[in-house]
Amino acid sequence: MSFSTLGLNEAILQAVTAAGYENPTDVQAQTIPAAMTGADLRVCSNTGSGKTAAFVLPALERVLAAREANPAASRRPLRGQPPQGPRVLVLAPTRELAIQVSKAAVTYGSHIPHLKVATVVGGVPYGAQLAALRGPIDLLIATPGRLIDHLDSGKAILGQVEMLILDEADRMLDMGFIEDIERIAEALPVGRQTVMVSATFAGQVGRLADQILKDDAQRIE
Ligand code: AMP
Repeated sequence: MSFSTLGLNEAILQAVTAAGYENPTDVQAQTIPAAMTGADLRVCSNTGSGKTAAFVLPALERVLAAREANPAASRRPLRGQPPQGPRVLVLAPTRELAIQVSKAAVTYGSHIPHLKVATVVGGVPYGAQLAALRGPIDLLIATPGRLIDHLDSGKAILGQVEMLILDEADRMLDMGFIEDIERIAEALPVGRQTVMVSATFAGQVGRLADQILKDDAQRIE
């Protein structure tokens, strides 16, 4: 199978080719078309499988579709107008992983004009993050704790999120982020798409999946 059979936009295919990828990995071949239907997904996958592209490529498709529907969305808001919040929110357990996902999004989105990727993680000053949150943003990649800080201060605008991705959900729960994740999910539109990626769906991760994914969520093993 080749990437060109997955129905991805030309701008995304060009970036994938530039990255030197010839064929999708297993998890990419299964996840990309399923995610592009808009379905909720539980993706059982480990690091090294190509899982990042499996969720970032359909996320970029969503950004492109949103721009097509509303071309003004990628521009800076007019004075007095609210900023354009992200269409896609990715939650990751650690600063390092969040930065890695952001770099991947910039790489895979390198052929999308003016793509705005913002990263909100702990352990760094608030200033640059606050400036980024004033928008516009296409993709927001965050660790749960720092995103909660920005939610509490009213600086993170999540009302336009169409797609929520939880990367390494098992690790996020091991690190005690369950309440933060639940609060963030509650701040998002109910009709959004949710993709959970985890090495396991046993125990608490499975219960979280039952809670935040739609009943007809697809399983990808
Ligand atoms: P991940 O599991 O997302 O951390 O990806 C592991 C590594 O595989 C990263 O270095 C990616 O750049 C690389 N990679 C992801 N997808 C592909 C692909 N389809 N072909 C070749 N390498 C890939």
